[in-house]
Amino acid sequence: MTLFEKIIAREIPADIVHEDARCIVFRDINPQAPIHLLIVPKKPIPRVGEASPDDEAVLGHLLLVAGRVAEDLRIRSIDKGFRLVINHGAAGGEAVPHLHIHLLAGRPMQWPPG
Ligand code: 5GP
Repeated sequence: MTLFEKIIAREIPADIVHEDARCIVFRDINPQAPIHLLIVPKKPIPRVGEASPDDEAVLGHLLLVAGRVAEDLRIRSIDKGFRLVINHGAAGGEAVPHLHIHLLAGRPMQWPPG
């Protein structure tokens, strides 16, 4: 069972801001911005590059949920904004082998990212 499956199963506590049949959204335990959420499919896809064609709908769902949560948090307007990040593999910065999208907001984002 992955760490995020344990959060989904309520075996590990988390500050959950959204949940539906296909995903869960909760606050990152080590936030890198004033708002730092993790958008996690309930299906434990290890990482984005290993998703299969069967995962197309859930992958799209995660992005739509990002927009909805951003609206709920009043950061969707283009004068505010947010950043989505997916880390794949060691050099990509992946630590938890269960696909997740980081949603970061509440401060100006730098480019290029580190
Ligand atoms: P990755 O580096 O794999 O893209 O991101 C993993 C993220 O999970 C990190 O930002 C890390 O802070 C977060 N994280 C690790 N363990 C926990 C936990 O137990 N609870 C929560 N809410 N976030 C966690």
